[in-house]
Amino acid sequence: MSGRTIDGRAAARLLTEGLTAEVTRLQEDGLGVGLATVLVGDGFSSAAYERRLRRLATELGVRYLPRTLPGTATEADLLAVIAELNAAPEVSGILVLRPLPAHIDEATVFRAIDPAKDIEAVHPENAGLLALGVPRFVPSTAASVFHLLDTWLDQAGEDRTDFYHRSLIVVVGRSNNVGKPAISLGYHREATVESVDEWASRTGNLGRHTRRADVLIVAAGRPGLIKAEHVKPGAVVLDVGINPRTGPAGRVHMVGDVDFASVAPRVRAITPVPGGVGPVTDVWLLRNTVTAARPARALVEAS
Ligand code: NAP
Repeated sequence: MSGRTIDGRAAARLLTEGLTAEVTRLQEDGLGVGLATVLVGDGFSSAAYERRLRRLATELGVRYLPRTLPGTATEADLLAVIAELNAAPEVSGILVLRPLPAHIDEATVFRAIDPAKDIEAVHPENAGLLALGVPRFVPSTAASVFHLLDTWLDQAGEDRTDFYHRSLIVVVGRSNNVGKPAISLGYHREATVESVDEWASRTGNLGRHTRRADVLIVAAGRPGLIKAEHVKPGAVVLDVGINPRTGPAGRVHMVGDVDFASVAPRVRAITPVPGGVGPVTDVWLLRNTVTAARPARALVEAS
C-alpha cells in the first residue's frame, strides 16, 4: 500500500479564500475584525508563529495588534495588557502565545481573557463548552486536524459518519491546548477514542495502543517518536508535532513527531511536517477571530 500525503497548504489556501470573502462582508456590515497577540519574551517557535499570523492577518485585511513584553515582565504587567485588550472594541480575538515564562501562572492569565474574545478556548468557560460538545470556539490545532481528516474523507469518497462510527482514534499527547481538544472532537464525531500519554512510552506500551488505531493523531513534541512499527497498515496519520532541528549547515528546520519516511509507505494517508497541520492551524486561528467579530454567531458547531 502506498502512502498518500495530505496537503495542508492546499487546504489552508481554500480556507483563506473563504475567509477573505467573510472579512469583506463583516466590514460591509460595519463590524471590524481585529486579532491581538501577546508575546512575552522571545521564544523561537512563538515568535515564528507570531510572524506567520501577522502576514496572514495582513493578507486577509484583518487588523493586527501585536503586543510584545520582555521576558522579565511580571504577571501583573501581562494581566494589565489583557485587561486593556478585553476592553478594546477594535479587538475581536486575543491570543496569548505559549510558552509563558515560568514565573507567570498560565491558568491565571487564561482566566483573565474575556471568554468572548478567547479564540483558542483556553478560558475554563470555553474549555468546558468544548468538553460538553457545545464549543464557542474550537482550538485551532485540533480543529485543523479534524478539518483535514473530514476533507480527506470527502475526497476519498468515504461517508464521514460511517467512518467515525467504526473507527478507533488514538491521540498521542493530552495537553490542554492540543491533545484534549482533539480527544473531544473525536468524541463529538462518535468515534471510539483512546488517549495515550508519556507513561505509555515509559512503560513500553506505546505501540500496543497506536498499532490498533484507524486514525492516529500525534501531538507529543517528540521528534520521530512514531515509527513504522507503531502504525497499523492502512491507518490515517495526522502529525501535529513541530520540532526545531538544526541541520549540518546550522540552519533550523522543522520535523514532526512521526518518522515520515518509514511510516508513509504503510498508511492510507498522512500529513507531512512542514506543510500538514501547521498551515491550517494558522488560518483557523484567523477564522476564530472572524467568528468572534460576529457575536450573534459566536456559538458555533464543532468544527
Ligand atoms: P505539550 O504541552 O508538551 O504536551 C505533550 C503531550 O505529549 C503530553 O500530554 C505528554 O504526556 C505527551 N508525551 C510526551 N512524550 C511522550 C511520549 N514519549 N509518548 C507518549 N506521549 C508523550 O505539547 P503540545 O503543546 O501539545 O504540543 C505537542 C507538539 O505539537 C509540539 O511539537 C508542538 O510544537 C506541536 N504543535 C503544533 C501545532 C500545529 O499547528 N501543528 C500547534 C501546537 C503545537 P504527559 O501528559 O504524560 O506529560
